[in-house]
Amino acid sequence: MKKQQRIYLDYNATTPCDPRVVDAMLPYFYEMAGNAASRSHPFGWEAEEAVSNARNQIAKLIDAEEREIVFTSGATEGNNLALKGVFEMYRRKGNHIITVETEHKAVLDTCIQIEKRGGEVTYLKVDKDGLINLEELKSAIKDTTILVSIMWANNETGVMQPMEEIGRICEEKGVLFFSDATQAVGKITTHPKELGIHLMAFTAHKMYGPKGVGALFVNRKRPRVKLTSQIDGGGHEEGMRSGTLNVPGIVGFGKAAEIAQAEMEEEEIRLSELRDKLEKALVNEVEECMVNGSTKYRMSQVTNLSFRHVDSEGLLMTFNQNIAVSTGSACTSASMDPSHVLTAMGLEDDLAKSSIRFSLGRFTTEEEIDFTIEKVIAGVQQLRALSPVWEMFKEGLV
Ligand SMILES: *Cc1c(COP(=O)(O)O)cnc(C)c1O
Repeated sequence: MKKQQRIYLDYNATTPCDPRVVDAMLPYFYEMAGNAASRSHPFGWEAEEAVSNARNQIAKLIDAEEREIVFTSGATEGNNLALKGVFEMYRRKGNHIITVETEHKAVLDTCIQIEKRGGEVTYLKVDKDGLINLEELKSAIKDTTILVSIMWANNETGVMQPMEEIGRICEEKGVLFFSDATQAVGKITTHPKELGIHLMAFTAHKMYGPKGVGALFVNRKRPRVKLTSQIDGGGHEEGMRSGTLNVPGIVGFGKAAEIAQAEMEEEEIRLSELRDKLEKALVNEVEECMVNGSTKYRMSQVTNLSFRHVDSEGLLMTFNQNIAVSTGSACTSASMDPSHVLTAMGLEDDLAKSSIRFSLGRFTTEEEIDFTIEKVIAGVQQLRALSPVWEMFKEGLV
């Protein structure tokens, strides 16, 4: 393998566009560049038709109706719209929201804002596998609870929460259920209506579509969920989200959804084989290498590993920028705090800071996985050979 080859194993942070997606988008930058809200000429009609077609492709992927898809700028906005929109709309019913400590910052930071505006938020804990306790969820629901917000699959560990059981509990208690499903949509079957999910946020750039476009699924029948809009002006998207639609982005998102639906089954098998190869090789050949999170309830494209007494930032340096992976959470990696997801699972700071997330995707090859295995093993050996702490650990002193 060439020395300068760059290997991308950070698909949970973002994915490159599929070339078929870009091809579908191109005409909408040029000859068909109308505003989908322009009703008086063909440019507008073409754009409107393209948006409607994409809405259909996306609705099909999640088995929803077209009018249940609200286009947004991404999952961060979808999370904000769902949480703040429900909080404001259902204020008379109650002010209590339940979420989980391991949620994405786009949910957690939004919940902090809601608390500042008079909301009450319960943050459920997780066990060492990253899973919530359903009994704790049940007993946290009270008369003032309006919303349960639980992500489908965790971005750092891939751990999947028991969506069906959560949906059943919410149904029994008569509270709305929202899920940040950004890491699940397009990779596994995600049909919110079957599971009693009333709102679901996701984004194009985690499923081989362009950045800056996403969607919020909003259940429209039994129950009809209403939201207070967070962006006003013009009443686009049934008044829930104003602003000129990002037509090329939406077209790309639609194409990405269509491809995902056609290919996800095969792709899931291929990726889980590659992921398992990587994980088994490292766990077997590197001393004190541990998988973080449930290996039973987990997405097939990701593994989060800790290497005891190896600083993950240091390990990255040994890759000479040939392998792109994540330490902690990319969104907070400006800070050197250990990942809030791993610490919520009970990892000590030291182990959390020795963790690396490898996330695979559509363009990952077996050759790349083989090269990565070699590089990681060599890097860990190199760092531990120089580490007094590792020596002490081996002698049983720490
Ligand atoms: C990436 C991600 C987001 C943010 O999505 P954007 O479209 O980049 O705003 C939110 N939640 C999860 C779980 C994610 O992985």
